[in-house]
Amino acid sequence: MTEIRKNIENMKNKVKECAIQSDRSPDDIQIIAVGKTFPVEVLQEAYSYGVRSFGENKVQELVEKMNSMSKDLQWHMIGHLQKNKAKYIAGEVTLIHSLDSVDLAKEIDKVARKKDCIQQVLVQVNISEEETKFGLPVNQVVGFLEEVSNFSGIQVKGLMTIGPKTKDKDYIRECFKRMHSLYIDIKQEKLDNINMDILSMGMSNDYDIAIQEGANMIRIGSAIFGKRSYTV
Ligand SMILES: *Cc1c(COP(=O)(O)O)cnc(C)c1O
Repeated sequence: MTEIRKNIENMKNKVKECAIQSDRSPDDIQIIAVGKTFPVEVLQEAYSYGVRSFGENKVQELVEKMNSMSKDLQWHMIGHLQKNKAKYIAGEVTLIHSLDSVDLAKEIDKVARKKDCIQQVLVQVNISEEETKFGLPVNQVVGFLEEVSNFSGIQVKGLMTIGPKTKDKDYIRECFKRMHSLYIDIKQEKLDNINMDILSMGMSNDYDIAIQEGANMIRIGSAIFGKRSYTV
């Protein structure tokens, strides 16, 4: 078996284990394979083992890969999105995980409506409130949702976060717990035109904690494709 194939099998098994441990169905948890920095041939290999959902964090790289691979794929924009680049991916990708400003929402909405479609998005939350990170602070999320709920070219599907950059597992867990309760609180508020179905959190080093704390979408790069030669 090749390395990537082994990694994919391994990941599926671990996700299953984590799900069962937390009394959840493994089918509730979607794995997004994050192929950033890896060439199309490598993603193609993952495709041949059944992977259909890919995540990228740069617009140009995403568009190039999307154009050169099979059309039956789901593409996820997981990185920070600049307003002026929204036009390249709005209406083209399955899900944008990184909505974090009204200006960006307006741009995505405009492009999507022009293409006569509705772009599904997640609102990115800066749960650890680290200064270096993108995403809204917790106390701005509901107001933001109310503001974008009127945009007919956008459908909010849930929330996304990036765990804190630390080896302190207790702190990571605490952040994911806070994120999950925010998600549940908003879900219970039943805001008009806002869906709370997706909670995207967990990467190669913290997906187990994320699943235990309620994530239903995890974004896995290095644990599938191996170490990246440079960090992005
Ligand atoms: C790179 C990246 C991932 C995947 O990271 P790994 O640690 O390689 O699993 C997930 N989410 C975002 C937003 C990323 O930029």
